[in-house]
Amino acid sequence: MAEHLRCDVAVIGAGPAGLSAAVAAAGQGARVVIVDASPQAGGQIWRNDVRFGAPAAARALREQVMVSGAMVLSRHEVVAASGGQLLLNGDAGAATLEYGNLVLATGARELLLPFPGWTLPGVTGAGGAQALAKQGAPMQGRRVVLAGSGPLLLASAYTLKRHGAEVVGIHEQATRQQLHAFAAALWRWPAKVMQAVQLRTALAGVPYHCDSHVLRALGDARVEAVELQRGNRTQTIACDQLACGFGLVPNIELAQLLSCDLHAQGRHAAVRVDEFQRTSVAGIFAAGEACGIGGVDCATVEGSIAGLAAANASGAARRLFPRRARARHFAALLGEHFALGDAVRRLADADTLVCRCEDVRFSDLAGMHDARAIKLKTRCGMGPCQGRICGPALAEIVDLPRTGSRPPVFPVPLNVLAALHAGTPTDSSSGVMK
Ligand SMILES: Cc1cc2nc3c(=O)[nH]c(=O)nc-3n(C[C@H](O)[C@H](O)[C@H](O)COP(=O)(O)OP(=O)(O)OC[C@H]3O[C@@H](n4cnc5c(N)ncnc54)[C@H](O)[C@@H]3O)c2cc1C
Repeated sequence: MAEHLRCDVAVIGAGPAGLSAAVAAAGQGARVVIVDASPQAGGQIWRNDVRFGAPAAARALREQVMVSGAMVLSRHEVVAASGGQLLLNGDAGAATLEYGNLVLATGARELLLPFPGWTLPGVTGAGGAQALAKQGAPMQGRRVVLAGSGPLLLASAYTLKRHGAEVVGIHEQATRQQLHAFAAALWRWPAKVMQAVQLRTALAGVPYHCDSHVLRALGDARVEAVELQRGNRTQTIACDQLACGFGLVPNIELAQLLSCDLHAQGRHAAVRVDEFQRTSVAGIFAAGEACGIGGVDCATVEGSIAGLAAANASGAARRLFPRRARARHFAALLGEHFALGDAVRRLADADTLVCRCEDVRFSDLAGMHDARAIKLKTRCGMGPCQGRICGPALAEIVDLPRTGSRPPVFPVPLNVLAALHAGTPTDSSSGVMK
């Protein structure tokens, strides 16, 4: 029989937001369980690096979680939810988790925009390339081009260089004027200025171009070169890897499943929360990038507020509001100055695959503007990723509205699904909170 767990506060996601929420709630005496699909806590920014370990901030927060008494269930995906219970799929099979309050800290994923050649081996997201390097993929001597938009390009370039890659160039789609305006506003965040200086120093010698974007990846069996638009001229650069980062999209599937209200975030959606990080559903809170792309500082403080509020410590939560306001102000600055230009939304040609799972080409969508019709006719979004990749891409390139989410959030064996409807099993001896 599936293991059944109970807790006062369940936290989904062990990134900066989830870990902070767990520490805050446990600090108020709540029995906390954190669930995360990854093998190790840390989320995207603090993904464990097999060669260099985790940064000091991540180690410190993990340590706080350990001493807080919160229970961490790594390698467990939350795949469905029903009547105050979550269905988890882990290494040992299904488990159910019954909670008093719930904090959704499910983070964000990369926005991948289709362009000719984007499915060639050797073409990845910028964060994907970073994750590969951290997980030990050989990078020594690989010529890597980074293209897209935002600070993740720099963070990824830093990781790749640290792992021995030759970063041939970073191509930022924002214009020089946008970058100057961003730099001019940065003085209000001295710690961010310091970080930017450190990154640029570590990347000394790596060319950084603005007003530059990818046009196509070239190669037969794998990527051999990239064609770029730089201002009003094109340029072809030889490379072994092309890492493209066009920004991030909030992971809202679980919130949708739980009927939480959403709000628009550009052409995408994020979980709507009030000042205490409460969603529209009683007892469910949300924090971090699931509520909107805000970066690590925003995620951390929102997580603390959500954890405190979920443990009924609203006074302590309120004291963190000014810190959150400052972090959100910085996030808004990033969003404004690295907004995607229309040029990167027009890269796909008729033959470009827009849905990799189901081999749907851009021309297959001709004349259709309704997500349901597209699904029925082409199977676009019906493959293993369940529209996680092609959905946001189509929202950008043809303004296709987002569709709902249905269980399971991730593909699972049928016997796992059955556990949610098998009734509440007897508590197993291990891992039971009560
Ligand atoms: C690929 C990638 C790389 C990034 N690299 C950097 C970087 O180098 N520097 C930087 O400043 N910012 C980076 N970011 C931005 C970064 O995500 C945020 O700044 C910060 O990590 C957000 O914290 P969070 O806690 O909101 O979400 P995350 O850190 O994304 O954590 C969310 C966690 O939720 C888990 N999760 C989601 N859904 C489920 C589910 N259904 N079941 C179980 N677990 C689930 C995920 O496994 C993940 O660990 C990156 C983002 C991405 C997508």
